[in-house]
Amino acid sequence: MSRSLLCLAIVAALTVPGQAQQTAPPAPQPQPPKPTSQLDSLRTVAESSDYRTTSTYAEVLGFMTIVDNASPNIRVISYGTTYEGRMMPLAVVGTGLKDASAASVKASGKLRVHIQGNIHAGEVEGKEAAQVLLREFAQGKHADWLETMVFLITPIFNADGNERFSLTNRGVQNGPINGQGTRANGQNININRDFMKLETPEGRAFAKLWNDYDPYVGMDLHTSDGSTHGYHLTYSPPLNPNTNAGIMSIMKDEWFPFVTKAIREKYKWETYYYGNASHPGGGRGGRGGGQGAPATPPAAQPQAPAAPAGPRAWGTFEHVPRFHNNYVGMRNRFALLSEAYAYATFKDRILATNHFIEEAMNFAHQNVAKIRTAVGSADREALAGKTHATRAQIRNGAMIEILMGEVEDEKNPINGRNMNRRKDVIKPEQMTDRLWFEPTTTETVPTEYYIPASATKALELLRAHGVQMRKTTVATKGLEQFAITANTQRAATNSIDTGSHGLRSLDGAWAATDVAAPVGSFAVAMNQRLARLAFYLLEPKSDDGLTAWNYLDDVLGVEGAKAYPILRRR
Ligand SMILES: [Zn+2]
Repeated sequence: MSRSLLCLAIVAALTVPGQAQQTAPPAPQPQPPKPTSQLDSLRTVAESSDYRTTSTYAEVLGFMTIVDNASPNIRVISYGTTYEGRMMPLAVVGTGLKDASAASVKASGKLRVHIQGNIHAGEVEGKEAAQVLLREFAQGKHADWLETMVFLITPIFNADGNERFSLTNRGVQNGPINGQGTRANGQNININRDFMKLETPEGRAFAKLWNDYDPYVGMDLHTSDGSTHGYHLTYSPPLNPNTNAGIMSIMKDEWFPFVTKAIREKYKWETYYYGNASHPGGGRGGRGGGQGAPATPPAAQPQAPAAPAGPRAWGTFEHVPRFHNNYVGMRNRFALLSEAYAYATFKDRILATNHFIEEAMNFAHQNVAKIRTAVGSADREALAGKTHATRAQIRNGAMIEILMGEVEDEKNPINGRNMNRRKDVIKPEQMTDRLWFEPTTTETVPTEYYIPASATKALELLRAHGVQMRKTTVATKGLEQFAITANTQRAATNSIDTGSHGLRSLDGAWAATDVAAPVGSFAVAMNQRLARLAFYLLEPKSDDGLTAWNYLDDVLGVEGAKAYPILRRR
């Protein structure tokens, strides 16, 4: 199965996008295993170009074909189709699997880990590092990991953006000097703001992959062109304050400290939580952080408190689950975001990304039981009656030591433009910790929500996320209704982060009502595995839910709308 899909992939890569799926694949040819010598001489495009160039889509598929053919433990299949019709390749890496299906992977009983590269196709280090990792698996390395884990590796998530090569896509990033792809996908949407609204086929494919394979761990690999700091790589766990506390404590107290210590001891490189230094002199040498400051703040976002005068602050990005790491946390799973440092050399950035993956997976291998237990207890946590955030802001914490750095100018020899080049300088500085969020508005989690059958767009989105629903057979009374006191819509800016949306924001309050949910409504119980995510989608004040993304505008977009159309039971 994997061979024929790869043939299809090659056809897809070489034909006009959009027509690829209509092209019949050639009959699969039996292929003998590649001799070991070919695998040993297999190089990524980055390696073979002396780190001047990153791989095209076709080159990634070619590389994946070779490792698939060379190793019985690697199976490459498709997990979706991009906006422009490119097959999205997934390498399933595991021992003793019958095939690459979700059923076989789950039947293995091993810890499932998803490693994703290239969500932002100007940030190609994850794509290159994932290929290095696949070659290492094909060469028989990491055999210990395969005793406890199965890997789902998607090196080139934003394949369409990858093909829009330009030398100017990444500002003053230090190469690759022959250019790289774009931040947005083929629809001009930032996939790393799409995890709640799911408007991209790539985001939809991700949600299906996660519903089918249900990984315990998700890694999302980026490159940051923000502050000139002293780290080779920065990282982040989920940031939403509603994330399960057990998952957060393992990430903050054990997993990231383990990775930082191991990379320091083995490679003498520093790593820390992702952030940018506040001005003055914040040293933002690029166009903004790798996670990117939003073009417009999310609707319903109260003004965050200003950083205190005096010392600078080290501030992270956003808490909203439209970002990969926050979304994965909302699904009760472990998320590790990485940001290679854009002003280190391309070679060092790929190395740093591989080191990060390797040490993170060493921890996972040693802590399989702990990770599995934490996920299980997060899934079983009873949320009803608890207080959860519907909006949040960064809180000012204690002082922390941040390692700042310096850069110097370097000319790109291809086009003469200026790039930043990391200098081997580390300047410790005490800064205010602005890495974590606190709620600004909260709600008590109910036991059940009731969605009218007429809210077809909302229902379809909930199904795509994997939220379980039950169609009611009797009219349901004894519920609460949300009375609207303020209903505002931000003007659409057509940025890649929000697309054509004008984000909507509601204020008001829930109160007991005589209104019944009619027969045929869809009930969403809050004792299901995805309750945490469902709450953030369904609560009317949520800054990243159905209201914000206009999924209920049939009702809420009407002048004088008095009540939120979804009811709930306390
Ligand atoms: Zn990024």
